[in-house]
Amino acid sequence: MELKNIKGIGPKSLEGLLELGINTVDDLIRYYPYRYNIYKPVNINNIIDNSIVTLTGRVVSKPTVFRSNKIKSIIRFQFESSNSIINVTIFNQSYLYKLLYLNRELTLVGKYEELKNTLVVNKVLMEPIYKTRIEPVYHVNSELKRATLIKAINDAIDSEEIKEIIPSYISDKYELIDSQTAIKCIHNPTSTEEFKKSLLKLKYEELFEFMFKINFLKFKNQVMDNFVVKELDKKDLDEVIEYVPFNLTKDQKDALVDILNDFKGLKRMNRLVLGDVGSGKTIVAFLSILLNKKAGYQSAMLAPTEVLASQHFESFNKLFKNLGVSVKLLTGSTSLEEKKNILEGLKTGNIDLVIGTHAILEDKVVFNNLGLVVTDEQHRFGVNQRDALKNKGKFVDVLYMSATPIPRTYALTIYGDMDISIIKEKPKGRKDIITTLHKFSDIKSVVKRLEEEIINGHQVYVVSPLIEDEEETSELNDLKRVKETLEENLEGKYKIDILHGRLKSVDKDKIINNFKEGKSNILLSTTVIEVGVDVPNATCMVIFNAERFGLATLHQLRGRVGRNSLQSYCMLISDKESDRLNVMCESNDGFYISEQDLKLRGSGDLFGTKQHGDMVFRISDIIKDSRILLQCKKDSEEFILNNIENNFRDYKYYQNLINELINKD
Ligand code: ADP
Ligand code: MG
Repeated sequence: MELKNIKGIGPKSLEGLLELGINTVDDLIRYYPYRYNIYKPVNINNIIDNSIVTLTGRVVSKPTVFRSNKIKSIIRFQFESSNSIINVTIFNQSYLYKLLYLNRELTLVGKYEELKNTLVVNKVLMEPIYKTRIEPVYHVNSELKRATLIKAINDAIDSEEIKEIIPSYISDKYELIDSQTAIKCIHNPTSTEEFKKSLLKLKYEELFEFMFKINFLKFKNQVMDNFVVKELDKKDLDEVIEYVPFNLTKDQKDALVDILNDFKGLKRMNRLVLGDVGSGKTIVAFLSILLNKKAGYQSAMLAPTEVLASQHFESFNKLFKNLGVSVKLLTGSTSLEEKKNILEGLKTGNIDLVIGTHAILEDKVVFNNLGLVVTDEQHRFGVNQRDALKNKGKFVDVLYMSATPIPRTYALTIYGDMDISIIKEKPKGRKDIITTLHKFSDIKSVVKRLEEEIINGHQVYVVSPLIEDEEETSELNDLKRVKETLEENLEGKYKIDILHGRLKSVDKDKIINNFKEGKSNILLSTTVIEVGVDVPNATCMVIFNAERFGLATLHQLRGRVGRNSLQSYCMLISDKESDRLNVMCESNDGFYISEQDLKLRGSGDLFGTKQHGDMVFRISDIIKDSRILLQCKKDSEEFILNNIENNFRDYKYYQNLINELINKD
């Protein structure tokens, strides 16, 4: 079945689905809730002052509404619940007024203030509920209504046959439930027991598939032979290092020696450079590209976003413009004519280096003699891509860059198919970023600090967790609210630009370039700036609702500042106490932070918010689910070995297995 054939999905909803990355029915049913609302009706006589409660009952006085303008309004009425009567206040939801009338039964969620005997309502459920209700919450967008999405998901689950990918002997061993049941329950949890089983199944499935691919690639890399040897030696490396205007750190040099040896070796290079944010991985990539050119080959550099691709393009040109390397930028927004020229140049070999996004993976892109592919921010790409680019040439060495510092055992697991060079040392002269934690009520002092930076001629990033608050009720600061807060406190003195993923790429580029060129003082953004953006003059990072982000993300975000010898600051704003945020204040070392993360995340709460992933998983978290991950590593290795032993000559069987798992998406 195709998405457009699902009842209720019109062209507009379809657009909305595609924007969320939902391209197939399988994507749809695996578009899991990122959080659950839990409503547990309580007896009004047992509640604690100022707590958030769910109350079921009925309206016992005729509601009144007071509107002061389009947005601001107050609805008031009396409400009877558990034989007690309380006052109810609902702010800024005047559309509810026509739905509320005398004797209407409903459920209210809000904060109860004992002194005033008043419930200040956050959310109204239009029916009485008597048992605990768990409601899934999904990310949606302006094209797609929440109700449409939920209906489409449930229709798809009922009509689609969901394939099992776990070998049955493994399902039996762990008593895993079937995928259909698991998926159904993840979207509509009924009991905690069933929910746990479903989580286990879906996580195991996802991690097994992942580890299967990794182990398979590892196996494939081992059996490959007779690779081309690139004619290079240490002298060539020293020569390219001479072009760099600063001194490389020892770790950077060591990584380059590893890469040189891979180039010279008989095996295809498959190396990951793992380094903390700001450790200077890009220059290592660039020098590898120059070495590869010396050996007579073309290079390609793949970045996860257009912003990052064009940034690399510019830095490369700035650093090496006199070396006669012909370099082009190819992204989704490259004009057709330019694209045609680039394709031609790559085919004839006139172009030495192409930097770009996914666009360089298209079949149309053919190289004359590709010798090196660099993938930046590797953790942003799926495993499948690890294979895609190297098939663009016979002699392609592959180099990956990743800024997710993770403990070594994890690195060896999730990057099990690669060799690893680690860059720990930071370039000389970098100061630690001073990180502080603030309550929202402390906003004035945050703004004061931020303004001092601007007055000193520096720039500021401000991050908010959401583009637009999807739920009327939540206390999150979306971009709009943050902008209002800033403008109010800064009296409109400075230029604030807003950046988020839903802007067109040309607009995004324009905003980033403005910021780079110092034309704006504050860049207010969602996490799109998390990946690799490099503006050395920015010295201050402010993160709203910091509790919403995982440590890895916070560390990445913070890494946008502290990119030269200036003292930089990071201010985390959160009203929630959390050990995680304290870890950020304690340390600037990504490897340390990842270890703490591991300790703290060990026991997550079952229905907790899914943190925006550090990797491309839909439901698993490699750190929180490390035990499942390690088990999947073992199980998939065994599975592959057994199949090799028993069926190796049965090429077709193996081929099917690969097609199903490796080439699935
Ligand atoms: P990341 O590892 O996060 O990708 P980048 O490669 O973007 O970091 O490097 C961050 C900044 O540090 C860049 O502006 C880069 O030019 C600079 N840099 C890299 N290596 C050194 C070095 N050895 N000495 C001084 N500056 C360096
Ligand atoms: Mg980088």
